[in-house]
Amino acid sequence: MHDPAITEAVAKLCEEFPGAYWRALDERRAYPTEFVNALTEAGYLAALIPEEYGGAGLNLAAAAGILETIQASGCNGGACHAQMYMMGTILRHGSDAQKRRYLPEIASGRLRMQAFGVTEPTSGTDTGALRTTARREGDHYIVNGQKIWTSRAEHSDIMLLLARTTPAAEVAKKTDGLSTFIVDMRSARDHGLTIRPIRTMMNHNSCEVFFDNMRVPAENLLGVEGKGFRYILDGMNAERLLIAAECIGDAKWFTQKSVAYGRERHVFGRPIAQNQGVQFPIAKAYAQMRAAELMVREGCALFDEGKPCGEQANMAKLLAAEASWAAAEACVQTHGGFGFAEEYDVERKFRETRLYQVAPISTNLILSYLAEHVLGLPRSY
Ligand SMILES: Cc1cc2nc3c(=O)[nH]c(=O)nc-3n(C[C@H](O)[C@H](O)[C@H](O)COP(=O)(O)OP(=O)(O)OC[C@H]3O[C@@H](n4cnc5c(N)ncnc54)[C@H](O)[C@@H]3O)c2cc1C
Repeated sequence: MHDPAITEAVAKLCEEFPGAYWRALDERRAYPTEFVNALTEAGYLAALIPEEYGGAGLNLAAAAGILETIQASGCNGGACHAQMYMMGTILRHGSDAQKRRYLPEIASGRLRMQAFGVTEPTSGTDTGALRTTARREGDHYIVNGQKIWTSRAEHSDIMLLLARTTPAAEVAKKTDGLSTFIVDMRSARDHGLTIRPIRTMMNHNSCEVFFDNMRVPAENLLGVEGKGFRYILDGMNAERLLIAAECIGDAKWFTQKSVAYGRERHVFGRPIAQNQGVQFPIAKAYAQMRAAELMVREGCALFDEGKPCGEQANMAKLLAAEASWAAAEACVQTHGGFGFAEEYDVERKFRETRLYQVAPISTNLILSYLAEHVLGLPRSY
């Protein structure tokens, strides 16, 4: 699945950003600007942008390989992974003018596209219940409302925003009447856009974002007004597969740490990993990771062939997030007290990988998808 040359080059780049770099950022909840710049300059964040727009024109399997390697090296792609999959929304649904304007700028790194505004405090997972509105007024839309968990909002130039353009009472389905906009956050900041960081369990640069009569030019509407939910959904398989690949990388990092420490740490006159009670959780998590990895590969292969892959993308995300958590848990247990010491990086990665069972989609919602859409069970909500 992975191109060995790319994997090797990404791993080499990651060597420049060791645990000490991430620990220092984690303490301050600071953004890994140097790391993101290095990835951008090397072209990795433009992996999925077609060559005609200045990107690398790679497929999803290759992009998954890049993110997996970043995580397996102990780094954190969460700081910039969204750029990889969000550009797909512009590519698939943007006008020619929008594609020509934004994609080459994103590919070159001159424009950072890291922020994705969907979740709101009151609607949560129920996206159709979102309350942020965009009202057309002449050649602008006037946006009012609030988003939450808009990651990287302070470190992005543009945001993809989902807002209601037709009141829910006037549409057949509550997911109709939503529209997607490209918001230039540089000009909007202090002109109706306010960003407030949220301090979280791990360093993820997530924010609350407030819109108070923020003006968005009508030309920044993506595709057709009212069809925005569909456009966001279209990007979700790629997002799930890429996040699943990150989880595989995390699981590999934890397993490698567990194995190394388990062999080297001697208690009762022998390596702790000689005890089956220590070996088995590591071996079990490894088996879970390998199975999940196969599902990630299958999902990416189907995606790259242009075939439906909702089932595989959802299962890949579910299984990979569970595998990384199992590997994380085994790693902390193997390290005993040292699993809690910052300098080992285990506790940091443990906090970081926990996120993927909740965001970008929680485990329950994946199970609901499988139950309803794959198994034909009654819709539960
Ligand atoms: C660090 C972080 C970064 C994020 N980044 C972004 C981002 O960049 N952009 C963005 O738009 N969003 C982002 N999110 C939001 C994320 O997608 C949501 O947190 C996630 O989808 C869950 O929504 P919620 O938090 O509102 O939980 P809720 O919807 O309130 O759900 C809470 C719990 O109830 C369960 N639940 C709810 N309804 C059902 C049901 N019908 N059946 C079974 N279980 C149910 C859920 O599975 C969950 O466990 C981020 C979140 C975090 C924590």
